[in-house]
Amino acid sequence: SDSHRNPLLAVRDCVKMSSVAEVKQGYELFDPRAYLQNNYTHPRANFESEDCVVPWKLRCLVRGRTLLDIGSGPTIYQVISACEHFEEIILSDYLEVNRQELSKWLHGEPDAFDWSPYLKYPPTRGDSKAERLRQKVKGVWRCDVQQPNPLHPASLGPVDAITTTFCLEAVSADKRSLESALANVTTLLVPGGFLLMIGALDESYYLAGQVRIPVLPVDEEYVKQAVTGAGYRIRVFQTYIMPAGLKIGVDDVRGVFYLQAQKL
Ligand code: SAM
Repeated sequence: SDSHRNPLLAVRDCVKMSSVAEVKQGYELFDPRAYLQNNYTHPRANFESEDCVVPWKLRCLVRGRTLLDIGSGPTIYQVISACEHFEEIILSDYLEVNRQELSKWLHGEPDAFDWSPYLKYPPTRGDSKAERLRQKVKGVWRCDVQQPNPLHPASLGPVDAITTTFCLEAVSADKRSLESALANVTTLLVPGGFLLMIGALDESYYLAGQVRIPVLPVDEEYVKQAVTGAGYRIRVFQTYIMPAGLKIGVDDVRGVFYLQAQKL
């Protein structure tokens, strides 16, 4: 073969991927107890150490009893994946028109927005995520992030996780007001609970029908600083840059951030 002539190819042959048959054969000897011992006991499962691999994996898989979505608007996409990981979900928004729009979808009314492409993404087998989500949503509440208890006069909490998408920067006149809104929202979260936030980067306005709504432009550094300052440790931070083809004149957003942060 070529490997007789070329020593590099000989090395490649030695480290070549195992065949499908070899992989299958390997699994015939799989010992669950050894696997558990190797990966899910000391030293890998050291809950005393934040940097240890098992606590790290667990933090990636955010889950819990109650999830609260703040400033839901008329949308539900932001809680679709939560459906699998939380027992109950509360949606909330400042505007009655948005709460009505959400109720339409929850009640399956014919003129509700069609979220079915969202519910099918990513594609999974034999799905009825819509029904599961409808069952898990226990309410659509009024909220105002500028109030010390954003859910006043209702009270809830503390919840295991909070999602909020394109809300805080879109409802705050300045940085001080965004920071106080974040502090208010944070009171609803249990210590150790997760804040999952998506928001607009460097946006100054967006259109919503006849109105042009002002937005507080924020950049990555400021978002990180505000969230850390509100008493969180940021676990994940990602940025999406809006491609030119999606700049369609409905806002001036530069990009979108996603963060996952744990309340200390
Ligand atoms: N979460 C949705 C999304 O991802 O598209 C909607 C985001 S929309 C840009 C901002 C939302 O914040 C609107 O639904 C608006 O009604 C809501 N809002 C406005 N003032 C608010 C306040 N003081 N407290 C909470 N939400 C507010």
